[in-house]
Amino acid sequence: MKIEEVQSTTKKQRVASHTHIKGLGLRDDGRAVGMGAGFVGQEQAREAAGLVVDMIRQKKMAGRALLLAGAPGTGKTALALGIAQELGSKVPFCPMVGSEVYSSEVKKTEVLMENFRRAIGLRIKENKEVYEGEVTELTPEETESTTGGYGKSISHVIIGLKTVKGTKQLKLDPTIYDALIKEKVIVGDVIYIEANSGAVKRVGRSDAFATEFDLEAEEYVPLPKGEVHKKKEIVQDVTLHDLDAANARPQGGQDILSMMGQMMKPKKTEITDKLRQEINKVVNRYIDQGVAELVPGVLFIDEVHMLDVECFTYLNRALESSLAPIVIFATNRGICTVRGTDISSPHGIPVDLLDRLVIIRTLPYTPAEMVQILAIRAQVEGLQVDEDSLAYLGEIGERTSLRHAVQLLTPANIVSRTNGRDDITRGDLEDIAELFLDAKASARLLQEQSDKYISQ
Ligand code: ATP
Repeated sequence: MKIEEVQSTTKKQRVASHTHIKGLGLRDDGRAVGMGAGFVGQEQAREAAGLVVDMIRQKKMAGRALLLAGAPGTGKTALALGIAQELGSKVPFCPMVGSEVYSSEVKKTEVLMENFRRAIGLRIKENKEVYEGEVTELTPEETESTTGGYGKSISHVIIGLKTVKGTKQLKLDPTIYDALIKEKVIVGDVIYIEANSGAVKRVGRSDAFATEFDLEAEEYVPLPKGEVHKKKEIVQDVTLHDLDAANARPQGGQDILSMMGQMMKPKKTEITDKLRQEINKVVNRYIDQGVAELVPGVLFIDEVHMLDVECFTYLNRALESSLAPIVIFATNRGICTVRGTDISSPHGIPVDLLDRLVIIRTLPYTPAEMVQILAIRAQVEGLQVDEDSLAYLGEIGERTSLRHAVQLLTPANIVSRTNGRDDITRGDLEDIAELFLDAKASARLLQEQSDKYISQ
């Protein structure tokens, strides 16, 4: 199974506007601090979410799920992300919207399955013996080729490595040369070489130590330069979907038509059930051997009322599986029909699934809370907005929605820059507010001018 070069397939875009949320901001006694971990207000929901985190830790959520119910823009996504963060910084968070399951190419349950696997993490730990030191010399030892004396081939790579025990010359297998080239290693780099596999990692240039190390920077404690380092624990966090994707073969056969298909859609890969079963087998073996550990993450399904009865049946079963993430649903609907049936049910969710849910309500924000949230977002995005402008943006948020107000920050920044300023003023916001309609204003306009639009 391919693990060494697994690329993360996390949906980063979707959480971009929530980067300031670092947890639920609760005290040790479980009470919410007014503002904590990037969270403002919504105290009751945060405290309830904190209890859910405790239940998850005590494994009391197995077979159950959480539903966040509240008006749009009341921080449901933020709350779900906060829960994931409380569970650990490496816990996967996979957000999706109910309507994503409808596609002409992929089955609904397949979409759900993929997202389930995006939300299950695997932490692979390996103890490796490594040499670490600063490169002082890097020379391929070239020999005459045996085939007629033309050209040269590399027999060994000489690499000088400055370690605490002095500089030593390592004569390495030529295959390592490729690894050195790939890592763009040059003299002066700090690298480590795995004793067994010969895998090379560039830890950094000697002047910028550890900056380009591909494990998380905070996880890496910089070593004194030149130390010979033995038995280094290498930790890699991947999700089951990362493994599926890395091991999937390109779709199609070898005939010309399917090859053309591959050229046009080069990234299209097929993840089959069989492949998933194989991956599960290997994963289970790794877990039994103590090499890997499962990290159940959070699957967040927004607009759950968009799912239909077929999806709900699948979810009921999937929640029972031993490989299930924590599932958090969100909705802003009251009683509505369950899609695919003519049955009405709270939040459009069938009663048998409702029975399994723990429900938390989110409430609208006060103007002061909105201003505080906007101030945090402005700060995180590196924007300068004075108090008066923030208050004005808060008013917009109150009239429209928090999400709309947050979204106005970016175009307002463009306007201010176009006018040669770094800071966003009230004038910029007024200009922008006139240019962009929020959903409510747009609906009102459509109603007022209904005679000018084609309707069915
Ligand atoms: P919902 O899912 O309820 O519609 P959401 O979580 O998607 O809400 P938005 O309504 O999009 O959140 O919120 C806009 C912005 O405000 C986002 O950047 C979000 O992270 C932030 N936000 C929402 N609630 C809070 C809060 N209580 N504290 C801090 N930031 C918040």
